[in-house]
Amino acid sequence: MDGRRFGAIEAGGTKFLCAIGSSPDRLGTPKRIPTTSPTETLAEVTAYFEEQIRRDGPLDAIGIASFGPAGVRTGAPGWGRILSTPKPGWSDIDLAGPLKDAFGIPVGFDTDVNGAALAEYRWGAAKGCDVATYITVGTGIGGGTVVGGRAVHGSRHPEVAHFFPRRHEADLAFAGVCPFHDDCVEGLASGSAIARRWGTSLSELPQDHIAHDIVAYYLGQLVTVLQAVLSPQRIVIGGGVSGTPGLLPRISRVAEALGNSYFGDAAQILTTPGLGERAGLLGAVILAEQAYEKTTNALQSR
Ligand code: ZN
Repeated sequence: MDGRRFGAIEAGGTKFLCAIGSSPDRLGTPKRIPTTSPTETLAEVTAYFEEQIRRDGPLDAIGIASFGPAGVRTGAPGWGRILSTPKPGWSDIDLAGPLKDAFGIPVGFDTDVNGAALAEYRWGAAKGCDVATYITVGTGIGGGTVVGGRAVHGSRHPEVAHFFPRRHEADLAFAGVCPFHDDCVEGLASGSAIARRWGTSLSELPQDHIAHDIVAYYLGQLVTVLQAVLSPQRIVIGGGVSGTPGLLPRISRVAEALGNSYFGDAAQILTTPGLGERAGLLGAVILAEQAYEKTTNALQSR
């Protein structure tokens, strides 16, 4: 949206990225703020936007694409907050409220992966898809789905990697690392699970190491489940682990073998992000824009 200036925040467990922008071509260099205590981190975030406003004028809205679990149901108690998280000190922390109070402008809020899914749908690898899912495979595994241009929310937001896959025959002894479910897909295939078993990252292990097959086996099942439940036209896979050479074709082969050609060609729908590492921040831009439009429409219909 030309002429609008949005504040964008990608709120992560290790860092908050903040920027000003309105599209991929109009996105400033992000400021990196380490995630320390909520009070300290949010004070730095607020100071960054105060400085931007002082220098270049007002913002129309702010969007936050946050690590989860997060309260994403507009109007429900807990909206705009981090919910119960294993990250110390961050459970039940209000992210949206303090910014709304500080700047008096609309604030949009969703998960980082829903934000990334929205951005990939609008500008990236999932452009034009009616149904698309963005998955990040990093320290944890998250996924966001966009249907008809809107991120999917229900009673909460979907948690696509917290289901229990069939176990790889060479991986039966590993208990898994998910603090909630042990051996869900996140507990078995995330960067944390890889480090726990093999003491390093997947990309550091030789290509003939069994770890590649084991991780692909679980992520392939994530793909078949998404195909079975949502039938997405694109599944965009981002995050640190997904950059491992050869992993995407391995995941496709597993999905095709386990799906037994029932869901169509997995290789056709699996792709890397079109927006690279900027998907989350650009998602925050879209969340800001949606919040701005919603407020403007509400004012006009009065
Ligand atoms: Zn889990």
